[in-house]
Parts: sequence; C-alpha cells; structure tokens
Amino acid sequence: MYGRSTWNTAWLLVLILLSAASCRRQQPSQPPMPATDTVAAVTTPVPSAKDTTGMSAFCLLTDSIPDILLEMRYYSDYNFVGTRIDGYEEPVAILTKEATSALRKVSDDLRTQGFRLKIYDAYRPQRAVAHFRRWGQDPGDTLMRADFYPGLAKQQIFSRGFVARKSGHSRGSTVDLTLVYAATGEEVDMGGPFDFFGERSHTFSEQITPQQRQNRLLLHNAMLRRGFKPVQGEWWHFTLRNEPYPNTYFDFPVSSRYFHK
Ligand SMILES: [Zn+2]
Repeated sequence: MYGRSTWNTAWLLVLILLSAASCRRQQPSQPPMPATDTVAAVTTPVPSAKDTTGMSAFCLLTDSIPDILLEMRYYSDYNFVGTRIDGYEEPVAILTKEATSALRKVSDDLRTQGFRLKIYDAYRPQRAVAHFRRWGQDPGDTLMRADFYPGLAKQQIFSRGFVARKSGHSRGSTVDLTLVYAATGEEVDMGGPFDFFGERSHTFSEQITPQQRQNRLLLHNAMLRRGFKPVQGEWWHFTLRNEPYPNTYFDFPVSSRYFHK
C-alpha cells in the first residue's frame, strides 16, 4: 500500500512509452492509461516493464462509445453506502481497451434495435472496495437499507457474497449496466434496480414478470455474444471472458486526467 504515487508515476511513463493503444474511433492518437498495482502487489508480483509491451491500456468509455450513458453510482451518494465512494474522483467510466472494444460492439448491436447502454459502474479501484469493507464494519450505518437491502441484515451483504474483499471490477474488464430506449431515454424495465441485494437480482429470478425476464435476456444475450460472461446473481454485471489482467487488482482513481491533457 505504500509508495502508491511513485508506482502510478512510473507506470504512467512506462505505458506512454510502450503502448500505442487507441480508444477513440476517429482519433487514433489517444494516450494510454497508467496501469498501477498496489493491492495486487500484496498477493501477486507487480508486473515487470516487460509485461507491459503490447498489452492493453485503459479507455474512457465516452471516448469510444459516444452515445453511451453514464450514471456512476459510486461517484454519487445514491448507492448502498449512501455517500461517494473512495477513489471516484469524477463521474467517468473506465475499462480496459479490450473490454471497451467488446462493449462498443454490444452498443452497435443494440443501437440497431433502438437501445443505448447505460453504465452504473466499470473499473473500480481497490480503495473503493476497501471503503465498502469499512462501511460493513459499522453495524449502525444502515442509511440506504430500504432501497438496497431491505430483506437482509447488513452483515449478510458480506456473508452472502454480495460484496467481497476483492472485486472483479478492479481488474478493469467488468461492467455494470442496463438498457435505455434510444427514442425516449427511458430505462428498460429490468424488474429490479442495480445493486439490489436479493433474489430479485438473479438474472432468471422467479420474482419478475416474463416481460422483465425478456428484457434481462436482451442485455444478457447481447453481452454474451460479444465475449462477456454473466454472474447469475446480478443481472447488470458482466466480465470480459478473455480479460487482459485476470490476476491484477488496480488502484488508480477513477478520473479523466490520464486521458485528456
Ligand atoms: Zn458489478
């Protein structure tokens, strides 16, 4: 956990030198993103400079998918904690280049059917996950219980695995999203909100209507077709099957400052 800013700076320089990644469709001169690794350093070796040759960088989703919608819940205070989460410096969405490219195909596919993608969360720094854990240790703080975990004791959020010690989101190729009707801007009815901790959030829950299930399947199938895999307990959550950093948990803040000078 120490020397984080030193590592950030070092990896920024390394990746700017070695990566020619582009996130923009029209402007292929996009600078790459630093890959940093703090928590990963505890459990896995920090990648050497050699590992960075030819590897992916990260992208701002709005650079690559211009009509994508963002509702970054952990930047806002409308989330299960009830406050902005550590590490979310701006309401932007970041994914690895590979995940961004796959998501762009999903967006293209669904656009022809009249839908746009709306992102709730994408890359999530490890410090945000640590914030969730700290929150979990205060049993008196149940501010958002009515909206996000009405049927559970707070401790069950952790014991049942809704929130874990580490999150796949920190590997940079996992995204939480829903669909919006392009014509009206209205959200598609998925039969349950993002980050609701309960049976209703299972993709194939018995508690939803056939139409809501069909809506979930539309998103589910579109994501799987372009290389994402689902998690059954959360209809909104998908990870790129061939993610480029399967063992690395990043901790750089969510910010556009790496991308735009
Ligand atoms: Zn998720």
